[in-house]
Amino acid sequence: MESGHQIEATNIAYFRRRYDCEHGPRIEQTEFTGGQDDMRASDCIFCKIVAGTSDSQEIYQDETTLAFMDIRPANDGHCLVIPKAHFETVFDMTPAAFAGVGSTVAKVARAVNEVLRPGGVSLIQANGELAGQSVLHVHVHVLPRRTDDNLLINWDRNSNNERRFDRERIAEIAERLRSRLRG
Ligand code: AMP
Ligand code: ZN
Repeated sequence: MESGHQIEATNIAYFRRRYDCEHGPRIEQTEFTGGQDDMRASDCIFCKIVAGTSDSQEIYQDETTLAFMDIRPANDGHCLVIPKAHFETVFDMTPAAFAGVGSTVAKVARAVNEVLRPGGVSLIQANGELAGQSVLHVHVHVLPRRTDDNLLINWDRNSNNERRFDRERIAEIAERLRSRLRG
């Protein structure tokens, strides 16, 4: 169950962003409308790349998003797509803001696929340290995949008799999510 506290925190985040839209940025890092305006943004490496105070191999940008090569690629062609505004996780963004990132991801993934011709492309986006997020500015990894690239992001699809495969369990979780998404 979603707690009331979480819902309230989300509303506050939306309100703060609306305030910025209506009243203009309170500090320089809110230059790109909609971003979080706390002081963490001023130390953020991806905000520095957006601002041009840190180098990157930029490959694409539009009004609200930027794509550049990962500095320590998991494999050849690994690149990142970010919103220009500072948001720590997807939970801090409106669905519409994240849709802008998704649109650029689709363009970049297509270019990676056509130019590098890997066997496939994985798109990965981590929220929170537990999920593997090390840079606290929303980013989507575009990862070309090749035979035997040894990128270990696969879970076991085949083992039997596992609790997570239980149909009733899946249906019960689906119902909880459906009811939240209807909300
Ligand atoms: P994650 O661990 O999912 O948060 O991914 C962060 C990614 O950002 C890693 O793949 C890093 O190699 C990459 N990264 C960190 N600093 C830079 C930078 N200055 N330029 C490009 N990529 C970076
Ligand atoms: Zn940032």
